[in-house]
Amino acid sequence: MSTTNDICHRRTTCRVCGGRDLVRFLDLGLMPLVNRYLNSSDDGRDEPRFPLEILFCRACSLSQLSVVVDPKVLYSEYDYHSSVSKTFQQHCEEMAASQWREFGLTAQDFVVEIASNDGCLVSKFQKLGCKVLGVEPAVNLAELANDAAVPTLNEFWSQAAADRILREHGPARLVVATNVLAHVDDLHGFIRAVASLLRPDGALVFEVPYMVNFMNRAEFDTAYHEHLSYFLLRPLKQALEANGLALANAQEFEIHGGSIRVTARPASGAPAPSDGVQRLLSWEEELGLHEEATYLRFASHVAMLKEELTAFVHALKARGKKLAAYGASAKGNILLNYCGIGKDMLDYVVDDTPAKQGKLYPGNHLPIVNRSQLHASPPNYLLLLAWNFVDEMVKNTAEYHARGGRYIVPIPSLRVI
Ligand SMILES: [Zn+2]
Repeated sequence: MSTTNDICHRRTTCRVCGGRDLVRFLDLGLMPLVNRYLNSSDDGRDEPRFPLEILFCRACSLSQLSVVVDPKVLYSEYDYHSSVSKTFQQHCEEMAASQWREFGLTAQDFVVEIASNDGCLVSKFQKLGCKVLGVEPAVNLAELANDAAVPTLNEFWSQAAADRILREHGPARLVVATNVLAHVDDLHGFIRAVASLLRPDGALVFEVPYMVNFMNRAEFDTAYHEHLSYFLLRPLKQALEANGLALANAQEFEIHGGSIRVTARPASGAPAPSDGVQRLLSWEEELGLHEEATYLRFASHVAMLKEELTAFVHALKARGKKLAAYGASAKGNILLNYCGIGKDMLDYVVDDTPAKQGKLYPGNHLPIVNRSQLHASPPNYLLLLAWNFVDEMVKNTAEYHARGGRYIVPIPSLRVI
């Protein structure tokens, strides 16, 4: 681990409340950086691995990783392009349209998106007529967005970035941030910078994977080094209020395995929180998510899922079956590496993202290929690694299915289609 110590640090205090009463409930072992896809020339080399463990804060119920990898290592280049998934495209359109209505946005309004990826979401606000700006740390993604005429700052979100935007563009009516808050170590600094950029009638709308779903649906494979925090609404409320924002609304929806969309407004003059806020806060309590024992039970369940999937895959191989996987996602990689399923079990991983094709999957070094491989060298079973897009994946591979190919869906419980 000597080569990795300089690019990661252990976190011994809770990022929301500062408490030290943290309980380790899940240990997935040493994991590679799952979004660091390798070139085929790297095959002989071993990549750095970091402990992947989740800690529960007994004081405020935040769950967080024990080890924080330097964000510059994680995000300077990023292969996940939002626009590739049709489901996500539709989600972005729906989100922009609903915010447009809810906040009565007009062409005069300025919308900023933090971690705007390739501009998938912020471009939808642009189409509706708003003035927009994306902020995206990955050089390759910021370039893609700018090339598509979606103005994008190539920076990490920070107070300095907020100050610069304020100087150059003025305050924002809306700041949107999907799937970024869970990636941030300095959560308070992040929220404070947003609060400083908002107009008094402005709003922050963000989406994060919801810890209730993580627990209820055994989504342990969504734990990886980018995901530093696993949020319930309760600790989020605490973090927002500590930085001058008030929780206005929260609702659940289906994307990335079940997320919550949270609206926060500047505390002075914020409307009373919606019923949805209290409903989710009560639900979290009823589910026992402020109690350590619930998390320990979850960990036993995860260990059982690993045993089931591993035994099933080994049995198929023993019967001479040919297996491959579909969806070279980060979560898929966690699942495979945690279960010890690699080249000895799977022939390849199909993925529809051109930037991933021809590369190797981190950790297990499985080759990532395009969909045509399913016809050239069809497996008997296709393990679906992006289980939140199962319908889309099955639709994409109708011909494989029609020829008798089967699917393995590993989560929330093992099933074969
Ligand atoms: Zn805490």
